[in-house]
Amino acid sequence: MHIAQIRERLRQAGAAPVHERHLLQLWAQGPARTRQRDPENFLPRPLREILPQLQAELAELLTLRSAHGSEDGSERLLLALRDGQMIESVLLPREGLCVSTQVGCAVGCVFCMTGRGGLIRQLGSAEIVAQLVLARQRRSVNKVVFMGMGEPAHNLDAVLEAIELLGSSGGINHKKLVFSTVGDPRVFERLPQGRVKPALALSLHSTDAALRAQLLPRAPRMTPEELVACGEDYAQRTAYPIQYQWTLLEGINDGEAEFEGLVRLLKGRYAVLNLIPYNAIDALPYQRPSWERARAMARALHERGVLTKLRQSAGQDVDGGCGQLRARAAGLKKG
Ligand code: SF4
Repeated sequence: MHIAQIRERLRQAGAAPVHERHLLQLWAQGPARTRQRDPENFLPRPLREILPQLQAELAELLTLRSAHGSEDGSERLLLALRDGQMIESVLLPREGLCVSTQVGCAVGCVFCMTGRGGLIRQLGSAEIVAQLVLARQRRSVNKVVFMGMGEPAHNLDAVLEAIELLGSSGGINHKKLVFSTVGDPRVFERLPQGRVKPALALSLHSTDAALRAQLLPRAPRMTPEELVACGEDYAQRTAYPIQYQWTLLEGINDGEAEFEGLVRLLKGRYAVLNLIPYNAIDALPYQRPSWERARAMARALHERGVLTKLRQSAGQDVDGGCGQLRARAAGLKKG
């Protein structure tokens, strides 16, 4: 289901813009954060008549299968869609939520469990928003990052529709919506045109175009230089720094050549580099470098003028890599 279809049903039942805004706010933010109105006096009768059915359909978009709390304060949620497919969301410390945008993913990053099975289906924009609705029933959420299963650029219309709703009726500050992508020309064209402009995270992972193509085999062929140029342009237009994501893989992208490449590409940019030591997965042959090595690299980059943060991926102790809970539930994972 898409948000446009919900709007259409509301309008056909006589909703004026004020009713539509109120009902979408009630859905996305919940009754506690929405000003109470008496439906009898506020909503036209045909609208009141269709509401129970519509609300039931929205409530059924996602069902919580299991929740896995972690020592770092995050909580991984395994969610079932109406057709039985499963996705993951992660409640992050400090009122954040990481949402999925697809079931599976076509990019096929070699270090990612989700990428192994390819794309299964797109999520509708309502299924993306429903992850926030369900998360808010568990705790407060004021930031949404599109970094879960899937490549948002491959489901661009639905993701942008969800972003528009979250940044208006959903009550999330635009800077606290983070669109995360491997980089796609369509993203750089569409994002600046939106009424709600999210912050942007670009998955870089290597400054060497050939190695990056090996690691992200079906990402659009933009060179690291092109990516950074487009990112810088968006950062200057929006006045939000770009977040460059770098999954640190031992012996692959943690050496001297990449270090110098990062300094060359990112020094002086309006950007933050997030170094994220890889969360090793039994079924895949990649390892994480030691924390000391990662910390030394972050410090050295900082000294050379690249604003760098060393980050843990959330929920390390509970199958923390993207797609692992789903893989385990679906029997895709060995061990
Ligand atoms: Fe897709 Fe992200 Fe996994 Fe790459 S890391 S395969 S883009 S879900």
